[in-house]
Amino acid sequence: MMIETLALVLGLCVGSFLNVCIVRVPKGMSVVRPPSHCPICDRTLSWYENLPILSYVVLRGRCRGCNTPISVRYPMVESLTALLAVLVARAAFGPLEAVLYFLLGCAMIVVTFIDIDHYIIPDAITLPSIIVAPAAAFIVGHITVMDSLIGILIGGGILWGVAWAYQMLRKQEGMGLGDVKLLAMVGGFLGWEAVLFTLLVGSLVGSLIGIVMVLGRRAGLGMEIPFGPFLAFGAMLYVFNGPALIGVYLDLPNLLF
Ligand SMILES: [Zn+2]
Repeated sequence: MMIETLALVLGLCVGSFLNVCIVRVPKGMSVVRPPSHCPICDRTLSWYENLPILSYVVLRGRCRGCNTPISVRYPMVESLTALLAVLVARAAFGPLEAVLYFLLGCAMIVVTFIDIDHYIIPDAITLPSIIVAPAAAFIVGHITVMDSLIGILIGGGILWGVAWAYQMLRKQEGMGLGDVKLLAMVGGFLGWEAVLFTLLVGSLVGSLIGIVMVLGRRAGLGMEIPFGPFLAFGAMLYVFNGPALIGVYLDLPNLLF
């Protein structure tokens, strides 16, 4: 209980920082300086306007300087990060593993919202992660260094092949190379089984949402839907439930017949 409360508070604060990353990383800006300010009137925020969720509620979702509505995205990202922290604290991970999965989840949250906003997945997040992943496997020991390297190769390789084939067939880019690097990153941190799981879950959920959006006339058939958020979802589902879900899948023939 105590640990979960701590995780919740930590998650809210980290989520506040992730909001900054989501806005600034695509612009190539520093995430540390300058201090947070209103994007409309440029007023620097005081400490009590920077409190996660609380400030949003107290300010009734408006900037104190110019009265412009503050996007509901900010408290959303903070809540999502807090949820991630509590889930990690609740799961039976070792301490190092818990830190690793929390950081990975944070990266996935940032990638998700940047991809939704800009249809890109920044190299500034994926490339350093791919490089660090084998070292993380060595230090944390949740997978072997070899698993990590194979994961990077399979993650990068499979999607690169699919992206290439799609481009050849349709003469247009269907899947960005950003998705390829994201999957290589997933493979590096979680191993090759996670790559297959993430791709399967990501494609299924992505197709479902795509169909719903087309039926709801929110999108045309040719509309670009960012794939990053679905891959991020698949990867985190693997972290929390992957091995159990793969077990259920492999047991299906036994359950059915
Ligand atoms: Zn303002």
